[in-house]
This record gives sequence, structure tokens and C-alpha cells, in this order.
Amino acid sequence: MLPETEINRVLAVTAHPDDIDFGAAGSVALFVDRGVEVTYLLVTDGDAGGNERTLDNSGMAELRRAEQLAAAKAVGITDVRFLGYPDGQVTVSLGLRRDIARVIRQIRPDLVITHHPDRNYQHVAPSHPDHRAVGGATLDAVYPDARNPYAFPELVKEEGLEAWTVREVWLNGGPAPDHWVDITETMDRKLAALQSHVSQISHREDFTEFVRTRFAAWAEQAGLGEGHYAEGFQVVTTA
Ligand SMILES: [Zn+2]
Repeated sequence: MLPETEINRVLAVTAHPDDIDFGAAGSVALFVDRGVEVTYLLVTDGDAGGNERTLDNSGMAELRRAEQLAAAKAVGITDVRFLGYPDGQVTVSLGLRRDIARVIRQIRPDLVITHHPDRNYQHVAPSHPDHRAVGGATLDAVYPDARNPYAFPELVKEEGLEAWTVREVWLNGGPAPDHWVDITETMDRKLAALQSHVSQISHREDFTEFVRTRFAAWAEQAGLGEGHYAEGFQVVTTA
């Protein structure tokens, strides 16, 4: 694994508003505390989300972008980018790979955080098709697209974006996490980030308890002991 001192820039690529906050906001807050620059890249605006279930979901995209900006601010992130793909229809297309490779070359991150591309048979929620597609496209963008100057040559020719090699990827939501981050000291900020997604959680009175219970269970699985919270990732060396 990359030593902490060699992680100076991080790019998190997720499908929907709130994914990063569920999966990694505690770890992101720890990075921010260490002075690491973190950028969020959201592939969709989450326009098929929400719980009102009126057929007219217009305005949802704008609302969810605003909620994600507020959530990012709660952990100290201001660089949040949206690709605007339609929610629920993401596939591993060449266009998506190019769009992610472009941002990788712009940001030049040491570490990329994204969804696990495989289906998780223990928990169904992390395996939303958009999540798997974004995880797969992001891994393809990391290797080979972003580092190969001959992949999407227009990125060099028209936008001046030179090839960049990402050295490590952390995958979220997979069946076999092998790296646990103790987020006890940033748990309150993770909760604040999650609570920014009002359109998604306002129907759940037990939301705070639900989140605390889940991340405490992972701390237990990680052997961190009582009173701790943890986020889990599968680490992939990509350089
Ligand atoms: Zn999602």
C-alpha cells in the first residue's frame, strides 16, 4: 500500500450524490485533516432518487447537486464535479471512460476511490448497476486510459492533458474489504455529510442510529474494538 506521506491528491469517483458520504466520507475527512487535496467526481445527479415517488421528478437533479455540495463542505471539500449522466442508465462506455480519464489527467491523483465493480452477494445495496458500471469504468480509466497517451489522443491534442499514472485504487462496497480505516474521530463529520442529503434520508427517523450501528459493526469486524467506527475498502495497486 502507498504510505500516507505519498498520498497528496485523491480523486473519488461515484455514481450518485450520497455514495461517497456513505462509503468514504470519514476517510476523506481524515485526508483533509492531513492537508490532502480531495476532488469528488459524480457521474450522475441522482435524478432518479428521492422518496416522494411523484412521477414528476423534475428539480431532483438540481436539489441533489446542492445537497452533495453541502455534504462535501461538511468534510471540507469544495472541488465537486458532475458529469450529468442519467441516473440508472450508466454503462461502461468508451465515453464514460474518456470522461473519467480526462478528470484523472486534470487532477493527477495519487489515489482514486471508487465503487467495487463486482456484485456483492452479501449486501445487495452496494451493487447498484450504476455503482458497478462506475467502478468498472473508473478502473479502466486508471488502467490503461489515463496513463496511455495513445488512448483518447484528443485529450492530449485538444486539451493538453498529458498521461497520468494513478498508483492505487480503493474500492468501496465489495465483498472482501482488506483495508479498514478507523474513522472514530471523523464520524460526526461523516454523519453531518450524510444528513445533508435531506431528500434521501428525511423519511428515516432512525437514520443516525442506523449509520452508527453499521460503521460500528465494521469496526468490530476490523478488530478495532468497542466505541470505534470504520470504513472498509479493497486496495488495488495500479502502478
Ligand atoms: Zn448510489
